[in-house]
Amino acid sequence: MKLCDAHCHLANLSVDMPLAPLISEATSHGITTYLSSALSKAELASYPSLQAQLPGRLLYSAGIHPSYDECDLEIKDIQKLCEARQIWAIGEIGMDRNTKDTDWMQSIFIRQLELAASYKLPVVLHIVGHQQEAYNILKDFPLRYLIHGYAGSLEAFQVFTKLDCCFTISERILRPDKHDLLQEMLAGGRYLFETDITRYYVAENEANPLLRLINVLNRSAELSGIPIEELTAVQATNYKYLTGYDL
Ligand SMILES: [Zn+2]
Repeated sequence: MKLCDAHCHLANLSVDMPLAPLISEATSHGITTYLSSALSKAELASYPSLQAQLPGRLLYSAGIHPSYDECDLEIKDIQKLCEARQIWAIGEIGMDRNTKDTDWMQSIFIRQLELAASYKLPVVLHIVGHQQEAYNILKDFPLRYLIHGYAGSLEAFQVFTKLDCCFTISERILRPDKHDLLQEMLAGGRYLFETDITRYYVAENEANPLLRLINVLNRSAELSGIPIEELTAVQATNYKYLTGYDL
């Protein structure tokens, strides 16, 4: 089995936990590959050495997040990364109902979508609230999207499926009240799995938070009745579709 953690924050996690032993244990459980996100200049600086630890198994994106206070990236940073072809995607970017300055949020979102369009890069999306507004913006950018950790309404999910779009299944939709969303996401066949792990999400005494991905996979199989082999095959196909690489 080859499993990708399709949305995580490994540079951020590495501030508190040495990654090498976590990664090697995760590898022995079949977690081979990571799509990780950089949201600060400090995180960006640590990705080359992380990639050296995981040759061919770690791709990273970078973006100006709509609601993360520690995000100090600027458009010129993102542009430089696009130019140098260092990132596999722009993100996570998007809209968040907790951000008060909606004009700023919208303009920085659009500016980054324009960059993705001009460099033909996929986009990793963070959409919390503002679903219809986000869709109205996105529909004018025919890009390849990965909507991470989506846990909004079923109706808005159905709207987003009109885009060229994959979704990551997270712990957030394993709850009973999100069962319909999980089923529909699985039925659509455009899913991968994520932990969204950062150093802030690690529980006390949690030895290896990367292993949460196994729980997301197993619970998805239990709740849907879909065999694990089928779930992993579908995520591998979607990984290839998004990144161009074999898992
Ligand atoms: Zn994230």
